[in-house]
Amino acid sequence: MFTLRDRRTGDLFDRWSDLGEKRRRLLDRSWAGVFRNHLLGALPADALCRHLDDRLGRPSKDLHVVIGVLLLQQLHDLTDAQAVEALAFNMAWHYALDVRSDADCYFCEKTLRNYRRLFIEQGFDEVLFRALTDRLVQAFSVDTSRQRMDSTALRSAMRTMTRLGIVVQTISKFARELERHHPDFYEQIGQEVVRRYVDREGDGAFAHTAPSVSKRRLGEAGQDLLSLAFQFRETSAGKLPSFLILERVLRDQFEIVDADCGPQDKPTAIVREPKDVPCDTVGNPADPDASYNAHKGHGYVAQIVETYCEDDGQEEREEEIATTPDLITHVAVHKMTVHDGHRLPDALNDLRARSLTPTVMLADSHYGSSDNMALTHQRDIDLVAPARPAKGACRGQLTLEDFVLDETGLVVLCPNEVKPISTSAATAKLQARFDLSICRQCPYMQQCPVQAAKRDGQFARFQYTPERAANQKRRLYERSEAFLKLYRWRAGIEATMSRLKHQMKLASLRVRGMSRMRYVVNLRALGLNIRRSAAIGA
Ligand code: SF4
Repeated sequence: MFTLRDRRTGDLFDRWSDLGEKRRRLLDRSWAGVFRNHLLGALPADALCRHLDDRLGRPSKDLHVVIGVLLLQQLHDLTDAQAVEALAFNMAWHYALDVRSDADCYFCEKTLRNYRRLFIEQGFDEVLFRALTDRLVQAFSVDTSRQRMDSTALRSAMRTMTRLGIVVQTISKFARELERHHPDFYEQIGQEVVRRYVDREGDGAFAHTAPSVSKRRLGEAGQDLLSLAFQFRETSAGKLPSFLILERVLRDQFEIVDADCGPQDKPTAIVREPKDVPCDTVGNPADPDASYNAHKGHGYVAQIVETYCEDDGQEEREEEIATTPDLITHVAVHKMTVHDGHRLPDALNDLRARSLTPTVMLADSHYGSSDNMALTHQRDIDLVAPARPAKGACRGQLTLEDFVLDETGLVVLCPNEVKPISTSAATAKLQARFDLSICRQCPYMQQCPVQAAKRDGQFARFQYTPERAANQKRRLYERSEAFLKLYRWRAGIEATMSRLKHQMKLASLRVRGMSRMRYVVNLRALGLNIRRSAAIGA
């Protein structure tokens, strides 16, 4: 049976009147005041009610307090024991949650865990983030016409492992789970496997494998992995979560060669070359949802969108700025293997569904693809994001940006200020031809993209697509003062990432798995919004 205390009817007496004026003001101006005055009444308790019977069973805790405790636990990065203690004894928590009975001041840790599990399973963290952020946007009259977007890599509570370590840990995890759920099957896997992978002692254990022999040992471990996969694939043990991880590791790290083709008369697991191992492989069996990115390592990526103010050089805006916090309006957690640019449409859809669509969106070059430009153009959003640098420019080559083009995209002058002999335009290609004898004398010949025409040896030819010509205009505009003036506000989101990681402690998480990561990131981003609102003044 669920409990929802009436929070709409005012109190006849102020239960906090025994607080002195100064202490009361301190509370009102802190996160506790923001939470109590603006958010407590907007908590989505109805969503939680649907999972509890309205008549049967023991009365639940007040659901407003339940949701509030889960949020405040993340806001302060507390363990379950610390959260329970804070709820019991911390006056700021009592004030924020408006606890009205002694029963509401006490949770056992198991209750907290059960509600959190329900929250994570049902995805209420996203509902909570959206509902409360929208309320803060309204309460503080935040201008959402200007927003910026970026991503940051996050790491769950998992350690980095070698490939051999991943295989050993995978077998060990499967063996331990098998012992718990299917003791009869556990008896069948053999003492040798148990000694080497579970007990990890004696000859042949992998604990102290030297790097020089690790590749050979990886092959041995792979063979054991393959034997276990064949042994249990068709049994009920094949449905264990750890067996599914085992199959994934086997598929990603090894190539299975049939008995007829392999060096032995039985199927063999051949170690894959590192370049053939997919990025979305298991990096640690403790967190199979994490994926790999060559630049960012193992973990997850969080997409963040926030509002911003252009807060210098305009005196008439000072008053508005002082009362308007920058708020995170969209959060999403993804695998490392998902490109940033592909996440922009989802973010815009989410903002549109909540009537928070910006008119200007700043983002880095990962979001500035031509598809995203076309999408934002359709929706009347000005996406200010640089195009990716031309491939040749990264290698020190001259590119189309170094040529002067006319309005139609045809070359007028080359980087050496030589006019082309002729130019032509077809549907798929534009072309300029230069005198090869001049090009041979040119100091830029080695870096220039022109090529000696094969059929006609007198000319050097340069071909490019109409899209490339359009991109040239965009890249030249990105060097202009007007673009830089607008784009410089994008860098402010790096400070938000830093605050999320260090103030809200996303850099040292205690959780693993996609759903738990999503829960923590949503609630901590919401926590940062509450802190920012409190800093402006409750
Ligand atoms: S190589 Fe030819 S086209 Fe290229 S910069 Fe020199 S003169 Fe111009």
